[in-house]
Amino acid sequence: MSASKILIVEDEHTLLEALRYNLEKEGYTVVTAVDGIQALDSARSESPDLIILDIMLPQLDGFEVCRILRKDMAVPILILTAKGEEIDKVIGLEWGADDYMVKPFSMRELKARIKAILRRTASEPQSAEEGVLKIGDLTIDPGGHKVTLGESVVTLNPKEYDLLAFLVKNKGRVFSREHLLERVWGYDYVGDTRTVDVHIRWLREKIESDPSKPRRLITVRGTGYKIEG
Ligand code: CA
Repeated sequence: MSASKILIVEDEHTLLEALRYNLEKEGYTVVTAVDGIQALDSARSESPDLIILDIMLPQLDGFEVCRILRKDMAVPILILTAKGEEIDKVIGLEWGADDYMVKPFSMRELKARIKAILRRTASEPQSAEEGVLKIGDLTIDPGGHKVTLGESVVTLNPKEYDLLAFLVKNKGRVFSREHLLERVWGYDYVGDTRTVDVHIRWLREKIESDPSKPRRLITVRGTGYKIEG
């Protein structure tokens, strides 16, 4: 197995080099970018396994970079932030980031987070085409767009299917309504986030034994939804 490739996006030279040094020592392949535009280019050309992304960057800030990348890339993103007032936004994970760390942080803690993210994403199928997805007795066959619960076939409309498949593919991860709207409906979809809530409700009626007490499709208060794996 080849070393995981990490893209570090950081405009603070000293920190960038410290990160590079520490991560290369851990055996990771490291590529770097020093502004938002370079970050987008490198993310596309280098296909990293993980991106460490600073928020305050020249050209485009980290939030913009995250938002743009999330339109077509599932790469895990760990946000670095120095600004206390941004923490709420980061925690909301509106931009689809996987984790965040507040500067100054301990290198050991960062390495632990990186390991955890890579371990989590390595066990997830990279695309729906790769095979049947299973959560307990719920099975999704992307080939035939077929969903079964135990022995019985679950009939879903196309958006219900897309939403469920996306969440199952990323099980355990929390997504905001905005993020789900963008990923499942498309970012140019004209509508509001209640669309997501409605589809979640319909899905629960079909896959939960008690839709009022969901055990698979979980609401994470103040954040969004996830599938419990
Ligand atoms: Ca910065």
